Amino acid sequence: MSGFSKQDLERESNAELGQGHMCTNNIHPHHLKIYRVKKIDGKPQKHWELFSLWLATAEDVANGEAEKEDEVLNLSSIEIEFCPFCGTQLAQ
Ligand SMILES: [Zn+2]
Repeated sequence: MSGFSKQDLERESNAELGQGHMCTNNIHPHHLKIYRVKKIDGKPQKHWELFSLWLATAEDVANGEAEKEDEVLNLSSIEIEFCPFCGTQLAQ
């Protein structure tokens, strides 16, 4: 299965990320990740975001949905205060 690293995410989102919340309740750990956001476009931040990043697999390339493997198909994020998977309040 294809996945992405924290560095990939920082590059794609123009953000500097801090601590992550690695949740065992998250059944899509390769696609959904939670990180404390330290900077966006160089501006200091102190909130947490749930990132959803989908990279093209060999199957997507074969289906003509992407030109090459690991190409970004979709990236989105939302600001959160609690983990949506386990309900833990994320430290401020
Ligand atoms: Zn959690």
